[in-house]
Amino acid sequence: SQGIDLRLASDGHSAARARVERSRRDYAEDVARLVDELDPDLYEESIMGRILDFLSNMVPVAAAAVAVSHRGDVRLVVSAHSQVREEFESNLATREGLLQSVCLSARAAVIHSDDLGVSAVPSAASCLGIVPVRAPRNEWACVLLARSGELECGLDVLDLVSDFAHQAFDAFRSAQKFRRVKREAETDALTGVFNRGAAMARGQRAFRKRRSLGAPLAILFIDIDHFKAVNDRFGHTAGDRALKEVARLCTDSLRENDFLGRYGGEEFLAVLPGASAADAERVAERIRAAIEVADIRYEEQRVQITVSVGIAELNDKFTDLDTMLRAADRALYRAKREGRNRVVHHRYMLRGDRVTRHL
Ligand code: GH3
Ligand code: MG
Ligand code: MG
Repeated sequence: SQGIDLRLASDGHSAARARVERSRRDYAEDVARLVDELDPDLYEESIMGRILDFLSNMVPVAAAAVAVSHRGDVRLVVSAHSQVREEFESNLATREGLLQSVCLSARAAVIHSDDLGVSAVPSAASCLGIVPVRAPRNEWACVLLARSGELECGLDVLDLVSDFAHQAFDAFRSAQKFRRVKREAETDALTGVFNRGAAMARGQRAFRKRRSLGAPLAILFIDIDHFKAVNDRFGHTAGDRALKEVARLCTDSLRENDFLGRYGGEEFLAVLPGASAADAERVAERIRAAIEVADIRYEEQRVQITVSVGIAELNDKFTDLDTMLRAADRALYRAKREGRNRVVHHRYMLRGDRVTRHL
């Protein structure tokens, strides 16, 4: 990748543009997918890495990096398959001022090792292209390309890179924004857990996946006991605090891949992918017990809360999540009727057994 860029030299500008356009489309699809799939803590870095992968395919480089200033810090993401990664990192870390001034000028620049001394440019390359991209106010960002050979650092190459980089960053930023908006739209404002719509959508996905795999899945319907009386006695504000606490205690009792949603006023739905009946009972009982003993305080008074839980687990008879929810709801109803503060399993109910926990 260090020789003269034959592709750009021979197939001319329009072919190169078409290639950029193709890359841009592929990249946009890639970002949309990544934003959906990636761990939030990793995705920023991964997406920048992706920009570099695409760039390296478009324009052969010895090394590429993305530098982004954020609240006074400069983050440098260096192309993963670069052999000069460390060199890049140590050289450029000390050249923030240079990067910043190029970025603020908003015009691509080429720096030759002859002009700035070899330490400006990784040793595998003879020049460094700095391509600024649009950034929010008071911040700056650029793509860095270390290349070998005069020709390759031509400004027409940087033009192409600049086009791609701008669009790639725009796609990245709108994906970020989309993700933020989406997360807000999925969250219940009071408790911070998923709202009903989001919990159901995720629940449906989990249901379909486990069903087609023949893998286990259980759901818990959790309803606060006599919550109306809690409101009447302590007031609505105390009730709200209790709801938050209940959501937190439920979440704490769930396992890694389980999730919780606020299904209605004082009803929560927990989805437990991979859980057997025994697993689900253990989790439900943990939740019930944790809430019963929780020291929820409001204006010096203890707000005693208990919950009833109905469990249903996936079996052949359930064709969709709704039928499973109804089964869990019937089990919950039974738990209420039998005295509340207990866990009832749908399957045992069908058999006519009375499996109740805690009396
Ligand atoms: P049960 O044990 O049979 O479930 O009795 P319950 O009183 O909990 O059930 P019911 O459905 O009669 O009442 C639910 C109460 O939950 C009524 C409503 O005021 C309260 N509630 C619903 N949403 C909220 C909320 O966001 N904040 C507060 N403070 N209360 C709420
Ligand atoms: Mg209730
Ligand atoms: Mg209710």
